[in-house]
Order: sequence, then structure tokens, then C-alpha cells
Amino acid sequence: MALLPFYIPGKRRIKIIIVGGGYAGMAALMTLKQYASNVDITIIDPSDHHLKITHLHETFRYPLTDLHVAFSKLETRFNCKHIKASLAVSDAMLQQWQTDKYLVIGDEIVDFDYLIITTGDESLAFEPVDNVLTLKNFIHTAGSELILKHLKTIADDVPVVSVVGSGATGIQFLFEIRQFLCRHKIKAKLRLINSSDTVLKQFPRGFDTYVQSRMQEFNIDCVSQVLYRAQSGHTVILETKPTGEITELPSHLTLLFAGKKQDQLWTANAFGQMIIDQQTLPNVFVAGDCSIYKSLGSNVQSAQSAVRKGKLIARNILRHSGFLKILEPYVHHDIGYVVNLGPTDAVGWLVTEGNIVTGLPALTIKEIVEAQYDLLLKGIDTYIV
Ligand SMILES: Cc1cc2nc3c(=O)[nH]c(=O)nc-3n(C[C@H](O)[C@H](O)[C@H](O)COP(=O)(O)OP(=O)(O)OC[C@H]3O[C@@H](n4cnc5c(N)ncnc54)[C@H](O)[C@@H]3O)c2cc1C
Repeated sequence: MALLPFYIPGKRRIKIIIVGGGYAGMAALMTLKQYASNVDITIIDPSDHHLKITHLHETFRYPLTDLHVAFSKLETRFNCKHIKASLAVSDAMLQQWQTDKYLVIGDEIVDFDYLIITTGDESLAFEPVDNVLTLKNFIHTAGSELILKHLKTIADDVPVVSVVGSGATGIQFLFEIRQFLCRHKIKAKLRLINSSDTVLKQFPRGFDTYVQSRMQEFNIDCVSQVLYRAQSGHTVILETKPTGEITELPSHLTLLFAGKKQDQLWTANAFGQMIIDQQTLPNVFVAGDCSIYKSLGSNVQSAQSAVRKGKLIARNILRHSGFLKILEPYVHHDIGYVVNLGPTDAVGWLVTEGNIVTGLPALTIKEIVEAQYDLLLKGIDTYIV
């Protein structure tokens, strides 16, 4: 058992519930198991498996099942319990759970000493339409299967495929689709629908320049400063910014990656303890995309931050349960971010935002980061910061 500074365990076993088995939840699970043998952990998640969602765009090349890690396997590996369910979480319930120290799921009562909320952040919802695909579709079916199924139903010689959203997810899907169409010799016109005048606008400026040059090279259209409004048959309806003018463009298949809902985000103190109505809930911790910490650390919605927050709250829960109760504040800042541009290219920054890397070096960094997470899932923690 690894040694955790400022953690002097008590004699009693501690019971912990993790709601949400994504990146933050998994990082919390591994870290708890790394430092303590006296913990009983229950994971509540509606799925049968943890999904390595940062690879989702790669399902145009690999089976979706490659990204699944069955909770049944994790139960055996980490001696924990998985309950397949979705838990309705609200401010009132969180306050109630802090007092009761148990929750009811189905007809089961599960008691706990600490509750961890890591439910992520859902994508923005739009009216469901047959030829509009969202992240939800890709979570259940591989990209290759989905696109072939839809393109088969289109009579046009050169169908138009539109990708809405120029954040990391939209751009990664756009370039994977381009490569997929090329590989399968499918004639189709690709278009990016962008609400801004730059792509990847949350990243350093060099990302935009690099991606735009790649899009020109591959003949990918870009419509800028427009908002997606609806899809009607084979037409996508857009609103021009800032005039509000409505325009229509042909689009036989539209992929929507328009951002996150951000409606169920919880505030926490610098140690990861939930704050509701200005009251700290000492036994309820939150991490990942659904959390905003009042601290110097990064609240960016990224797997990196989710893992760091998950690991931090696990350490803090153990310390809180022990004799000293000295907790550690969250100070992590992401040390890089790489966006894939298909299987052979990428753009990213490393160490400082001015240090832009592209091509093979960027791909290598991404692979190292992904490999590090894979090791964590196997119970081997190689994270230094
Ligand atoms: C295509 C794609 C590529 C990405 N690439 C990168 C990248 O390269 N680098 C990077 O840093 N980030 C990347 N991200 C972002 C990253 O995936 C997220 O920031 C990360 O997954 C957040 O982790 P999380 O644990 O907060 O949430 P998630 O990983 O989304 O996990 C949330 C979990 O909670 C469960 N859940 C939800 N609601 C409930 C409920 N009510 N009850 C019980 N369980 C519930 C869900 O089933 C899920 O398992 C990418 C995202 C996408 C979509």
C-alpha cells in the first residue's frame, strides 16, 4: 500500500459511493485503492462499462468495444461494487444525503461515509431528427457504422456532410470523417459549421492557423459566424451572427457538437467538498466536468483536469476520515492539450500555450497521455503531477 502524506487511518472501514464512472470517478476509485485497504466502494453508473470517451472519434477506425472497460472487470480488479443505475442528483438531495449518510437507489438502501459526484456534463440537446447525429449516437454506435448507414439512404451522387461545432470534439470528428470517406472511396462534400470566426478558439491562435490550412488542403468548406438552428429534410437552417439572418444550406447528414449544457455544475471549495447555498458539505465531494472549484487550479472541462480532481478528492477523503484531517488544495493546471486531425496528424500545446506542436510529435504526446490513463485503469499510477 502506497503511503499518503497526512493520512493516519482510523480503525473503522469507510464506505464511499462514487456516482458516475467516467474519468474523474475512475481516478478517484484507483487512488482510494492505492492508498487504503479499509475502504468499501460502490460505483453508481447507468452503463455496463466505463467509456474511454476521449477516443470516441477513433470509432471510424476501431470498434467501439475497444473503448469499453466493463464495470464487472473493475469490480474484480479493484474489489468494488457497481450498481447499474442513474441517480437523480439535486441540491436538495445532496443536502439530504449529507445529513442522512445513505441514499436509496431502486429498492436498495446504500449507506456511506463519503459521497463522490462525478456525473460529467451533458451535451446541449436539440430536437431529435433522423439525419442529425450527436455525441449520444456515437456513444452507442461506432462512427463507421453510423455514417455508412446514413449515407446508404441518400440518393445524391455527392452528399453533403456537415459538422457543427469547431471545438476539440467537432474538429476531431471532422478530420476522422474525411479520412474515413477517403479510405472507403466515398464521394461526399464535407463542411464545418462554425459559430466563431476561428476554429478551436479556446486554444492558442496557432491551432486555428494550422487547422484552417489543413481544411483548405483537404477541400473542407467552412461556414463561419453562424449558429445551428434546425435541420429540415436535407437542409440545415442557420442563423448568421450578429444580424440574425436565417440561411439554408444543403446537408444530407449533420453532426452536432455544439457544446455542453453546463446546467448541472456544482461548486466546491479548494479541497473538492461541495458547497450548496454557501454551506460546505464536508462528506460530499465533486470532481470532473460537473465541478467548479474555488481554487487556483484549472476548471477546464478536460479529461486531464477530471483525473487530477478525482485523484485529489480521493486523497482528501482519506485524510478527512483519518486523525489529522489536513486537506490538500487543488492547484493543478493542464500541461498540454492535443487535438487529433485524423490518424496521422494532430495539433497541440505542451508545457506553455506558446509551445505549439503538430504532426508526429503531437500524436506521440497524445499517445503517451492516453497510455498513462490506460495504466491507471489497470491500477498503475504513473502521474507525477
Ligand atoms: C470525442 C472527445 C474527445 C475528447 N478528447 C479529450 C482529450 O484529448 N483530452 C482531454 O483532456 N479531454 C478530452 N475530452 C474531454 C473529456 O472526455 C472530458 O473532460 C472527461 O470525460 C470528463 O470526465 P468526467 O469524469 O467529468 O465525465 P465523463 O467522463 O463524461 O463521465 C461521466 C460518467 O457519469 C455517468 N453519469 C452521468 N449521469 C449520471 C447519473 N445521474 N447517475 C450515475 N451516473 C451518471 C456517465 O454514465 C459517465 O460514465 C474529449 C471529449 C470527447 C467527447
